[in-house]
Amino acid sequence: MESLYKIRINNLSFWYGASQALDDVSLNMRRNEIFGLMGPSKSGKSTLLRVLNRMSDLIPGARVEGKVWLDEEDILAPDYDVVALRRRVGLVLSKPTPLPRTVLENLVLAPRMAGKKSRRELEEVAETALKAARLWDEVKDRLKDSALKLSGGQQQRLCLARTLAMEPEVILLDEPTSGLDPISTAKIEETLFQLKKNYTIILVSNNTKQIARATDRVAFLLMSRVIEIGDTARVFTVPQDQRTDDYISGRFG
Ligand code: ADP
Ligand code: MG
Repeated sequence: MESLYKIRINNLSFWYGASQALDDVSLNMRRNEIFGLMGPSKSGKSTLLRVLNRMSDLIPGARVEGKVWLDEEDILAPDYDVVALRRRVGLVLSKPTPLPRTVLENLVLAPRMAGKKSRRELEEVAETALKAARLWDEVKDRLKDSALKLSGGQQQRLCLARTLAMEPEVILLDEPTSGLDPISTAKIEETLFQLKKNYTIILVSNNTKQIARATDRVAFLLMSRVIEIGDTARVFTVPQDQRTDDYISGRFG
């Protein structure tokens, strides 16, 4: 039987040289949930996302301990296919980073490299991704325009669409709305809510209101450690740890 969990993180620790950024983190992410990671700056949230698609491999002097399972696969195994992993686990960063190319090219470059060839097939991938990211209506007549001409909120949905065009299984988002206005933020949150039917989503935010609105379960990280994990509604109403209570009440962070 398929496990309830898409990702299982067991006793994960991570060091940048001598400085420890994750300390014995254990967390499970369910299929088709939006899992929130909240915590003050430098608590290790981005580091955790980086380990999940092994972008952390690119950092000289970094070291990891522990296990991360994606389905039944040990993704930290030295011989694990990292290119395939990054296709299955897509990452959207906080600052929109479209390529200085057209809207369409932003979406089709990666699928083309992954072997999709015909123009029709590629246009279909692009259209599906733009619809899923709720951007299609706004850009369907601008596919040949430079992506850099789009507004910030549109660029961020384009980056989400670009990730979706890779047909991933897991979507990691690192403070995806931190630079956006409230309307663009609401559009991204609605989009994520629709997407969770088909994906496992991990949303990092240092905005506790967003975590409370948009996630199903949440982990609170503080100084490299998991302090509390639970259903978001429960954590925000009856936090079990005083530090969680202090954080969600805005007493620090
Ligand atoms: P968060 O996303 O919660 O703000 P990070 O994962 O970015 O936290 O950072 C956790 C800790 O790791 C911080 O102390 C930070 O300074 C350190 N760190 C992050 N990236 C690097 C890096 N590339 N090299 C060295 N230290 C880093
Ligand atoms: Mg971060």
